[in-house]
Amino acid sequence: MARWECAIEGDDEVFDRVEDLIVHQATSHDRIECKVCGAVVPDGYFAIRHAFDEHSRAEYVRAYDAGAADVRRRESVKETIEAEADIREVVDRIES
Ligand SMILES: [Zn+2]
Ligand SMILES: [Zn+2]
Repeated sequence: MARWECAIEGDDEVFDRVEDLIVHQATSHDRIECKVCGAVVPDGYFAIRHAFDEHSRAEYVRAYDAGAADVRRRESVKETIEAEADIREVVDRIES
C-alpha cells in the first residue's frame, strides 16, 4: 500500500490514505501565498493545483525561480494524487 509523506517544510508525518494527507496539509499547515497572483491557498496539493491550473508553466518558473525538473516533479505529484485521491471527499472534509 502506498504511503504518503507530508514533506511540507520537512514534516515527515506519513499517511496511509492520500485523502488524509491532503486534509492534513490543508488544515495543519499555514496557508501560503501564491507568488504569481498573491492568492492565499492551502499548502501541499492545493498549492500545486492552484499553480498549474491557474498559471502557465512560464509564470510559475519565473515567480518561483524553478527549473524544468521542479516543474516536472510537481506535475507528477499532482497527477499521482489526482489518479489516487477522491478530491470531492477531501474538499467536503476541509469545508465541514
Ligand atoms: Zn504536514
Ligand atoms: Zn496564483
